[in-house]
Amino acid sequence: MISETIQRLHSELPPTVKLVAVSKFHPFESIVEAYESGQRIFAESRPQELMAKVRRLEEMRASRVAETRLSWGDSDAAEAWLSDIEWHFIGHLQTNKLKMVLPYVSLVQSVDSLRLLEAINVWGERNGKVISVLLEPHVAAEETKQGFSPEEILAILADASSYEYISFKGIMGMATFIEDESVVDSDFAALADIFSQCRLSFPSLAPDFTELSIGMSDDYPLAIAHGSTMVRIGSMIFGSRQ
Ligand SMILES: *Cc1c(COP(=O)(O)O)cnc(C)c1O
Repeated sequence: MISETIQRLHSELPPTVKLVAVSKFHPFESIVEAYESGQRIFAESRPQELMAKVRRLEEMRASRVAETRLSWGDSDAAEAWLSDIEWHFIGHLQTNKLKMVLPYVSLVQSVDSLRLLEAINVWGERNGKVISVLLEPHVAAEETKQGFSPEEILAILADASSYEYISFKGIMGMATFIEDESVVDSDFAALADIFSQCRLSFPSLAPDFTELSIGMSDDYPLAIAHGSTMVRIGSMIFGSRQ
C-alpha cells in the first residue's frame, strides 16, 4: 500500500514538485518501507518523535553495516542505506526544543514567529550551522496566534542580511480546514501571491527563495495548480493517524 502510493505519486507529480512524506504518528517501519520505494524526503511535526525516529533509523543502519561486515557483504551499500534521508520539520516549534530538531533537519518549514526565527539564528551561530527555513504566513480563517502577516514577511526579508545563520528558502502554508473548495482555492491563491511578491520585491534573495510548500493529501492537486513546489502528504501514503 505505502509503496504503491509512493510510486504512483512519484510518477504523477510534475518534475517541479517535490514529495514530502509526512510520517508523524506512524512507526519507523513505515518510513523504511517508503524509503525502499524510493522516497527520500520525510517530515515530522513533533521534536521528540523526530529525534526518536532519526535515532532508531541510525541504529538500524548501523546494525545492517555490522551484519554486512560479518558476512563479507556489500558494506558500501549498507553504509549508504537510509543515510540519504532528508528530514523536514513542519510543526509548531518551541524555542526550548531547537536542539532536538535543528541538528537533524535540512529544512524547517514552519517558522511562524519572529521569536522563533531569532532563536534559530542564535542556535545556528552557536553551532556553526546555517539553517534553511520557510516562513509560514497566516491566511486560513481559523483563529490562531501563529503565522506571519504578508507585511511581516516582507519586513523580515528586507532585513534578511541580519540573520547570518538563516537561509530563506520560501513560503509554507496551509489552507483553511474546510470542505469548501472555493475557500481552499482562495487561500492557496493568497499564499502563492505572497510567495511571488517576496520574489519580486527581493530579487537578490530570489535565486534561493524558490519553494512554495502548499498542498496536503486532500488538496494537493489544487495546490499544484497554484504553483506548489513541495507537497506535504501524510495520510494518503501512510493511512490515517491514530
Ligand atoms: C500533518 C500535516 C500534513 C499532512 O497532512 P495529510 O492530510 O495527512 O496529508 C501536512 N502539513 C502539515 C503542516 C501537517 O501538520
